[in-house]
Parts: sequence; structure tokens; C-alpha cells
Amino acid sequence: MSLTLYNTLTRKKEEFTPLEGKEVRIYTCGPTVYSYAHIGNFRAYVFMDTLRRVLKANGYTLKHVMNITDVGHLESDADEGEDKMEKAAKKENKNPYEIAAFYTDIFFRDMGRLNIERPEIIAKATDHIADMLEFVKKLVENGYAYETSKGLYFDISKLDHYPVLSNRNLDEQIAGARVDVDEEKRNPYDFAVWIKAPENHIMKWESPWGLSYPGWHLECSTMSRKYLGDEFDIHTGGVDHIPTHHENEIAQSKGCTGHIPAKRWMHVEFLQVDGGKMSKSLGNTYTLDELQKRGIEPLAYKLFCYTAHYRTKLNFTFDSAISSQKALNRLREGYLFHSENEQEVNKETIEEYKRKFIEAVNDDLNMPLAMGIVWEVVRNEVKSKQFADLLLEFDKILGLDLKNAKSYLENQKKTELPKEILDLVEQRKKARENKDWAESDRIREELKEKGYVVKDTKEGMTIESI
Ligand code: AMP
Ligand code: ZN
Repeated sequence: MSLTLYNTLTRKKEEFTPLEGKEVRIYTCGPTVYSYAHIGNFRAYVFMDTLRRVLKANGYTLKHVMNITDVGHLESDADEGEDKMEKAAKKENKNPYEIAAFYTDIFFRDMGRLNIERPEIIAKATDHIADMLEFVKKLVENGYAYETSKGLYFDISKLDHYPVLSNRNLDEQIAGARVDVDEEKRNPYDFAVWIKAPENHIMKWESPWGLSYPGWHLECSTMSRKYLGDEFDIHTGGVDHIPTHHENEIAQSKGCTGHIPAKRWMHVEFLQVDGGKMSKSLGNTYTLDELQKRGIEPLAYKLFCYTAHYRTKLNFTFDSAISSQKALNRLREGYLFHSENEQEVNKETIEEYKRKFIEAVNDDLNMPLAMGIVWEVVRNEVKSKQFADLLLEFDKILGLDLKNAKSYLENQKKTELPKEILDLVEQRKKARENKDWAESDRIREELKEKGYVVKDTKEGMTIESI
């Protein structure tokens, strides 16, 4: 069965075949490790995980690189503001290397909690400074980079096409731009490749242009080329990367090697919160820990991601995440129920489910459709270990750790209630004793928001995590 994947470069779904044999070479733009990754970031890595698993299910082996950006990512993607790492270091009174080590560890811990496969190669920007300098020198040699008082800039007018990924009309954009154009740049859209470090910048390296540090785009161009060659199969990232970061990566690679580095560019749409943007100022950039405190497991968040196709926006609300937690438990229970029964299922039924599931995931990773088939199997009236085995087969792609369903369910029962919840339960008891039904209902709602359901029975009040 053929695998089709959408390519932002051609704006089409295309049948996938690797450039060479059975190995797929992939590059994923990884995290900038200046803070905790939030659930929006993790939507991007859940997508990356699905892509990996689907490619493997199609018989391919992977050589997959993900970078860790620990220097050079400025506050705005377009060369403005401070380096995010240095800013965080000042705020936390640490050095940027400590900041990077701390948030990198937490990032991988969270990837583990989401059961996201780790790419074969993890490339940290600060480990590749010499390679980056070589890349810059080549750009200068080829006439694509020039020096200003701020650093080395890429001259986009030297390219036959810029931009190639997005439909941006640069003239229109320049006319409407808010920012002043840097007088030293040859063209307004020229971008920084290599940045001269201000005195107080901690991360900086010797170079023919003085103490300086790499631009974020250069990091990805250099590391993808180093590990995957001048041309590889797939490059992934979030939709926010399309207009600047990936456009500039392509420009640099063309300037250095003459090639657009990846044949396919895949982008995941944004996660929104309560129908709007997720942002620190709105206080809605939730982490996995914050979800967990409200009774939503990381794997329930992963299942939640499967409710929308990766190319459509996904709206996060606590209600819908709680529904995903319930659904995950139902999936686990359904799997266990099947595994304990031996009713007869004919082979064709199993094969038909398999075919439909693979057809869905092979159609540009259509996870909502694939989940529909998973639920058909869970709910099948015939209860059989064969269906349990089929669900385990599907889980190679879902990555929900279904084989450990029993222990997750048992742990949930065992988990003691947090003090905050116990206090609320106590307050609700008092409200009921005082016949303050409005207050009692209010606390019930608050508990629900925090992931707990209270029931009033003849024997008294019960409370369960959702
Ligand atoms: P950063 O660490 O800021 O470089 O971002 C890491 C990844 O998260 C990138 O692939 C971004 O495109 C992606 N990303 C950031 N915010 C969101 C969001 N709200 N929804 C989905 N992906 C996001
Ligand atoms: Zn990148």
C-alpha cells in the first residue's frame, strides 16, 4: 500500500519513496532549550513521532536528526531582540550552558512520558561551531554572504527564487512592515547568518569576523548537511517555521551546495488554547506537569493530538483533554477486556481492520480516521484476544503504551489524592452540611476542572480521578 505525504514545497500530497534504498533521512527542527517546552511544542513532536512510526511500519529504516538549539535563536525569528538563551540565563541568574542542560533534560524526560521515539541523532548547536564556520566561509566564497557591522548577512538577491516555501509577496510585506530596515543590508529580507557578539554576550567564538555566534537558521543548514548530506528526504517543523526559518535554511543550503536540502517539507499546524493563541502573557502555555496536576496524563495529551489531522489547527480546552483521558482509560479497559476473552474472529475481519488502519495512516498520517478504526475494534461485540493483539499492532503507530494498560489503570486507583483536592472535598462536605448547595455545586465544578469527579451516594461522597 502506498504512502502519501503532503509536501509544503509543492503544496501537494505526494507518493513517498526515499532518495536511496530503504533508508529515510529526516531532519526535525528541535527545541530551543531556554524554558520548559509547552504542550504546543509537544504537538510538533507527537507529529514527528507519528511520522517515524508510520515510515517504519512501511518497512523503512530511519536516519533521523533533531537539533537542540542552545545558542543563536533571537527573540524574533527575523534577527531582532536578544538571544533567548542569554535572556533566560540573566533572568535565572545562571550561565546559558546551565540553562541549556537543565531544559534539555526536562525536554527528554517529557518526550519519554509521551512515549515519543528519540531520533537516531541528537545534534546540539554548540557542539557544531567549527562546522558552522566552514559553512559560512563557503557562503562568503560563493558570493552569498557579506559583512556588516552586525555580522554576516545572506544576500537573497543572489538567488533565482526567494521565497520558495511560502506564497509571501515580499514587496507587499515590505510596504506594510512595522520595523525599520537596517541601512547596511543590501535587501530588506537579507538575514543574519553569523552574528558579531556584543561585549556581554557569553556564548561567542573566535572567527575571521571577531568574537561571534551562529544564527539559528545556519545551525539547521549545517547540521542537516553534516549528518544527512546535501540532499535528504524529509524536513519537519511547525508552520511558524515556513516563512522565515525554513525559507532561510533553504536559501543558505542553495548558496552552499546549490540544492534545496530536503525533497519534502512537512509542517504541523498550531495548537491553540480556548480558541486563541497560546502565549506566556495570557498565562496559557501549559506544560505536561500542569496537565498532570489536573489529572491528565501525558499519554492522554498524545491521544488528544490524534483528534485532529496534523495540518489543521487543534484547539485545547481542559474539557476536551479530560475527555481524552477518559477515552484513554476506555481504550485500556477495552484492550484488557479483549485480551481476557477467546471468542472466535475470522481472519478476514482482522485483515480488513488492518487494511483500513494502514490506509488511514498512509494517507498523510490521518490519525483521526485511524482512531475511528481503533474504536471499532475496541467496541466490537465479539471479545477476543485476537482483537487485543490487533490493538497492540496498531499501538506500534499510536505509541500509547497499551501493553502496560493494566498497570496504568491500577496506578490510577492507587494514586493518593493531592492535598489541594482533599481540602476541596472537605470544604464541599461543610457546604453540604450547611445546606449551601450553590457552594457545593461550585466546588464540584472546580474539582471537575482539576480532573476529579465527585458522586454523592447513600454511603457518602466518592471521588475519582477522571
Ligand atoms: P521552539 O522551541 O520555540 O523552537 O519550538 C519548538 C517546536 O514547537 C517548533 O517546531 C515550533 O514550530 C513548535 N511550536 C511552537 N508553538 C507551537 C504551537 N502552539 N503548536 C504547535 N507547535 C508549536
Ligand atoms: Zn531548524
